[in-house]
Amino acid sequence: MSDGTVIGFPGGSARSGPPRVAVIGAGLSGLACAERLIGRGWPVTVFDKGRAPGGRMATRRADAGGGAGGDAGLRFDHGAQYFTARDPRFRDRVEDWVAQGAAAPWTGRIVRIGKDGGIEESPGERFVGTPGMTAPARLLARSVAPRSGVRVAEVVQGDDGWRLRDEAGRDLGSYGRVAVAVPSPQAVPLLAEAPDLAAAAADAVMAGCWSVMARFPRPLGPDYDGAFVMESPLSWIARDSSKPGRDAGGGETWVLHGSPEWSQRHIEDDPAAVIARLTAAFRELAGLGAAEADHLAAHRWRFSIPVRGLEQECLYDPERGLGACGDWCLGGRVEGAFLSGLALADRILADGAPV
Ligand SMILES: Cc1cc2nc3c(=O)[nH]c(=O)nc-3n(C[C@H](O)[C@H](O)[C@H](O)COP(=O)(O)OP(=O)(O)OC[C@H]3O[C@@H](n4cnc5c(N)ncnc54)[C@H](O)[C@@H]3O)c2cc1C
Repeated sequence: MSDGTVIGFPGGSARSGPPRVAVIGAGLSGLACAERLIGRGWPVTVFDKGRAPGGRMATRRADAGGGAGGDAGLRFDHGAQYFTARDPRFRDRVEDWVAQGAAAPWTGRIVRIGKDGGIEESPGERFVGTPGMTAPARLLARSVAPRSGVRVAEVVQGDDGWRLRDEAGRDLGSYGRVAVAVPSPQAVPLLAEAPDLAAAAADAVMAGCWSVMARFPRPLGPDYDGAFVMESPLSWIARDSSKPGRDAGGGETWVLHGSPEWSQRHIEDDPAAVIARLTAAFRELAGLGAAEADHLAAHRWRFSIPVRGLEQECLYDPERGLGACGDWCLGGRVEGAFLSGLALADRILADGAPV
């Protein structure tokens, strides 16, 4: 990995080899993009504002705030719930993750619950990270070594390529190519020097999502493990502890997602009010009777999934050496994010190092 000390010219030349690349974002799209470039011998630095890689493929520990005490060992997938693997390129990768113990099929019973309470099966092949959703990203990050805890605030054209600065104005180096791999509303300001790309990113629309994490000391009634919920403040509920490799200490962990419409309407609400409303909806839907959770927490995703994506693999301007990738470009899901990252890497590789 390059950390800013590569000898040669940031823009690249016959003497220096391929140009240095900055990837902003260590979610699945940024990691996939960086890994491909590094595999071809390009010097790449990945920045992420978070503490760990993975982005919205996230796992929350119960002691991270908001819950009752005494349950520090609990973990919840509070972002992405599972992923599909249809494209052969992503399938190959998922098989590799499975072989390495970082992912496994989730064979839980998934259903659809209609407005009238009617239940329909929703079969399909679904995978999850093991022991949590961050595991595949952690595996990818081994070869990519992202710099965590760095929020890139500015991408500006300098004499020697793209200059990156953090929010305190500190210089993060110069790069010949920049890949912006963050949710579209966060990509717009980082693409400001390429107004056409910034305008394209601004066209994508991402919905917020409130995610409630609940632990119940005893098993609950529902005989399904996950449900898409129609016409409710909830859009998805899942028995997180039914996923492979999870341990709820004899009880059950559940994740409840507010629907995009409900979440957007309540995005500024107090977490306690959100917990109360969404657990009440869950209680009614799943017929919980007297069962009480002994841990409750909520997480607000301001940008969860694209409700309007671009349906193009990625954005790239070869004149400027600036591009963007992510689920909002392609597919709107984990698989799409991975493929979008590969597509941007391929555009950058095709653009090539000057000779
Ligand atoms: C609640 C929820 C439920 C979901 N359910 C599913 C599901 O069931 N199945 C599915 O396939 N997908 C699901 N998704 C979507 C899935 O998580 C995403 O499609 C995928 O993880 C997106 O990856 P990404 O790399 O495009 O973006 P992200 O994972 O968002 O990664 C972007 C990264 O950029 C970093 N970043 C942002 N701005 C900056 C900056 N200025 N400087 C440095 N770093 C920055 C962030 O910290 C983050 O790590 C869900 C998402 C959410 C939130």
